[in-house]
Amino acid sequence: MTEEATTTTAAPVAEEENIEGRCRAGRKTDNPCWREATTTTHDSFACCDEHARLCELAEEVDAWHCALDMVEEWIRGPVSEDYYGELERLALKMQDEIRLEYAHASAKAYAARLVVDQGPPKDGESRLTLEQSEKLARLIIHADSFVDARTALEDAPKEVLGSHDRWIMVNALAAAAQTAGEAVSSYKQEIGLRPE
Ligand SMILES: [Zn+2]
Repeated sequence: MTEEATTTTAAPVAEEENIEGRCRAGRKTDNPCWREATTTTHDSFACCDEHARLCELAEEVDAWHCALDMVEEWIRGPVSEDYYGELERLALKMQDEIRLEYAHASAKAYAARLVVDQGPPKDGESRLTLEQSEKLARLIIHADSFVDARTALEDAPKEVLGSHDRWIMVNALAAAAQTAGEAVSSYKQEIGLRPE
């Protein structure tokens, strides 16, 4: 749970009454959750189902992030001393699996965040379903990744990448980013969201 969500200092009585039964996420911020508290997290935090799911997924992301750090450290350390290379082969395979799990967990958490960030329903406005949010999150992450890769490539030191190779790759990534961005806009339109 985010820091603002877990802070539980006493609120004035009037405010307490006003938000009785409401999800406690973001309660101390300018943007408190508008939903009913329908469940509690394992640390007894009363919240809506959407925030409970986000909380659970954020913990999953943390767990995979931690596992990734540990396996990378292990590979840099004891595994690099493996004379025969068999352990290194298996460790690298494990690292790939953990990277994949981390990417999947991050995409699911991003999707949960898109759902959580929706305001109260208004007449005629489309609501994201869980399935739609997961597809949209995958498309957004895909598009953002091309943009980030392009920036990283542009910033890479000359010694790492020659200028000709660099610009060929930058061009390819720019084209991929544009296609992926168009896929985001077109999916948003398909599900009735305003393309930005
Ligand atoms: Zn909530």
